[in-house]
Order: sequence, then structure tokens, then C-alpha cells
Amino acid sequence: MAVYDPKSLKAEEFINDAEIQETLAYAEANKNNVELIDGILEKARPRKTAKGCECAGLTHREASVLLACEIPEKIQRMYEIAEEIKLAFYGNRIVLFAPLYLSNYCVNGCLYCPYHQKNKRIPRKKLTQDEVRAEVIALQDMGHKRLAIEAGEDPLHNPIEYILECIDTIYSVHHKNGDIRRVNVNIAATTVENYRKLKDAGIGTYILFQETYHKKSYLQLHPTGPKHDYDYHTEAMDRAMEGGIDDVGLGVLFGLEMYKYEFAGLIMHAEHLEAVHGVGPHTISVPRVKRADDIDPDEFDGGIDDDTFAKIAACIRLAVPYTGMIISTRESEAVRAKVLPLGVSQISGGSRTSVGGYAEEERPHDTEQFDVSDQRTLDEVVRWLMETDHIPSFCTACYRAGRTGDRFMSLCKSGQILNCCHPNALMTLAEYLEDYASSETKRMGYEMIERELPKIPSENARRIAAQNIRDIRNSNRRDFRF
Ligand code: SAM
Repeated sequence: MAVYDPKSLKAEEFINDAEIQETLAYAEANKNNVELIDGILEKARPRKTAKGCECAGLTHREASVLLACEIPEKIQRMYEIAEEIKLAFYGNRIVLFAPLYLSNYCVNGCLYCPYHQKNKRIPRKKLTQDEVRAEVIALQDMGHKRLAIEAGEDPLHNPIEYILECIDTIYSVHHKNGDIRRVNVNIAATTVENYRKLKDAGIGTYILFQETYHKKSYLQLHPTGPKHDYDYHTEAMDRAMEGGIDDVGLGVLFGLEMYKYEFAGLIMHAEHLEAVHGVGPHTISVPRVKRADDIDPDEFDGGIDDDTFAKIAACIRLAVPYTGMIISTRESEAVRAKVLPLGVSQISGGSRTSVGGYAEEERPHDTEQFDVSDQRTLDEVVRWLMETDHIPSFCTACYRAGRTGDRFMSLCKSGQILNCCHPNALMTLAEYLEDYASSETKRMGYEMIERELPKIPSENARRIAAQNIRDIRNSNRRDFRF
């Protein structure tokens, strides 16, 4: 029988089923153990240090006890601590991005995804480079600076060369004042050699959702195609890191399996990356399975309600305080409002999940991957963020300044991120306000900038940011970043 070893490179050892089962039993046995729960909550709290602020994080066992706990006051305390951590390390900034679907050709048989090979109803489409250009122009005209590219797995239609060509095209488009400064990539698990090519193409984060950590379910949910190989999929992030990509994004498709099992697996995966590569995941996404062509989410037995979803988000925040958390437009405005304060750092806005959807006047549904719940425009999302006292940020500076992997993490851990992120958020917001915002959003945005500038701790950073924002308003553009 496989033994649990977070340092092992074998999936069955770092995502060890016996360890997860024991963790779940331990969490269940201790879910009313107030003394233990208080101790775990105390450990999770951020602490002031001479340099700034620090958080201990939680082990998968400790975090699983919190997730199992159903005592209302303790859950309330989890939410409060999640919010404290979020404010300490990420402030009230929310980074915005959009997905860009390149191709829905796919040879896999994933039971929850409408792009599965047996779906003969869905029109198959792959963007030409001209179409990629048209999509990027439409996205730049909305104000986006950061994209996540998405594609099905198909060695014939979507080989790595196609993905690389698309990345090149995306970075080459500069429409008016627009440019895409960071391309994150969400494509199927691949080889070290291909990860190296993606790294050389200048990608930001490599994102791959595990879907489910439960091997037996995984094999059933992915009955055919290369994705059926659980070990190859689960070990992908180690290959990505070997290929030089040091920002990787984990995720579980909640709603497929028992959420407590998934949660323990997710935190163990983060522990494994830290143990082997010295740096945990850059981001964690928490997508929930959605209705789609040929897909009925009620067919899967792991559906979770909104309160449980919020609790998962808070427990992730407590367990891995330095990891960014992403919520997509799969979630409605109401759910996003509920989880935003619990530690979310990135959201998508104005998303279209169809291949070629942005260049179309009306939101097309025919090639859509799933139904988007939050259908607001980017401008509406930006305004809403400000109304709820969040700074919309289009920042991509860390990655362009080489602050990736452990360099980003050490900056984050020292609390110094406030002197970088806050000015970058405000400067990129000013760019958005000048170039793309409606008049009401612009008015609110400059009020927010006035309020937020004084919060930059370093006097020097504050002065430079204020000057840069004046330059942006006077159309004196440079590559503004800290
Ligand atoms: N093809 C790549 C792979 O296999 O990892 C990734 C691209 S896929 C477009 C991105 C993600 O969409 C998948 O990893 C899955 O978690 C999610 N997804 C698939 N079907 C979904 C559905 N019906 N509702 C919500 N998310 C879904």
C-alpha cells in the first residue's frame, strides 16, 4: 500500500487516499472539539512582525477540522480571520481578468464538460490567428490586460504549436492604448518540454484544475482520452515546475465529489508543491460545475450550497494565506459578494465562454462551455467592486518585474506587497478610467484613488504613484509599474 509522503513525486504518495480518509475521520471526530478548534483558529490568525505581518497557515488536517466544524460562532470566527488575512496580504484589491477560449475541439470524455468528444451537437470551432486578433481587440476595448487562455485537449487541432502561436498573437496586439500584459494558460496536462515552451513564450500562471482528487471518481468521470490518466494529470504541476514555470494554479471542480475529500486533497497538493519546490501554488480556483449543453449538474452527487461554498473559501484562505484565490463568472453577483471578503484576490469580468464570443455583438451560446451566471459588463463589475469598497486592479507588474514563484511569495510574506500592489492597482485603475470607463465609473474611480493613495505605506512609493497617475491623466503614458 502507498504511504503518505508530501515530498514524493508520485501522485498516490503525495495525494494519499489513506491519509485523506484518516484526515476526514479525524476532522469528523473533532468537529465539536472546541478547545482544538480554538487552537487552530489562533494559529491561523495573522501576526504583526518587525517587517510587517505573518501567517502560519494550516496543515490539511487542521484545515479539515475547521471545514467539518458546524458551530455557528466558530464559522463566524473563521470568516473574520479569513477577512483579516485577506486585508493583511491582499488589501482590498481585486485583480480582474477574462478567459479567452481558443478551441473547443477535444478528444477527452469528461462527463461534466460539454466539449467532451461524444458531444456531436456542439459546433466545433478553433480560432484562426485573425480571429484571435479580433477577440483580443474586443477584450482590450473592454479594458482587459490579463487573460486566461482555454482550450480543449486535441493533439491534432490544438497542438502546443497552435497554443504558442496564439500566445504570440495575443501579446502582439496593441489596439489604441490597449495591450495584454499577462497571458495565463489553462490547457491540459502536458510534457516538461511543452511546459518549457510555454515558459519561453512568456506565460504568467499555468492553471490546471484537478477536477477531483478522488482517484476512483476521477477515472469514472474521465472514462476516455489522455485525461483518463490520473497520475499524469495529478503530477502535471511538478512537470510544469521542472519546465521552469514557477507560478502554477490549482483548482477543484466542486460539485463532482465529496467536498471534504476534495478540500483535503487540494491542501495536500499545495503542501506537496511547497515541500518539493519550495513554493506553493500561486493561485487556487474554486469553480463549481455548471449547467451546459449536454450537461446536467444535478447528475453529480457532490453539489454544494452557497454557505458551504463560502466556508470552503474561508478555510482555503486560512490554510494557504499567501495563495491568490480566483472566483469566475460561474458564480452569480450575490455569491461573489458573499465570498469576496473571505479571501478572493482575482475575479473574471465580462466573460464569454464561447469560442470567438467577444467579437460578437450578442453573447453567443452555441459553442459555450458553460452558462455564465454573472453576465454584467466589465464596467459594471468595476463599478460594483468600488461600490463595495474594493479596488479594481488590472495589475500585471509582479510577473513582468520577475516577481514570480518564491520571489513573489517572500514579498507577500514580508507584507511589503502593499508598497507594490497598492500603487500598481491605483495606476492601472487610472489607465482603465481614462481609456475605457463610463463617466460614472470614472467619477467614482478617481474618488477611490484619492481615498486610497494615502494608504500606501512608503512615502516615496506614494509620491511616485501620485505623479504617475497625474501623467496617466495627462496622456503621458509609460510602462508604469512598481
Ligand atoms: N482542457 C483543459 C483541461 O482538460 O484541463 C482545460 C480547459 S477547460 C476549458 C477548463 C475547466 O473548465 C476544466 O478544467 C473544468 O474544471 C471546467 N469545466 C468543464 N466543464 C464545466 C462545467 N460544466 N461547469 C463548470 N466548469 C466546467
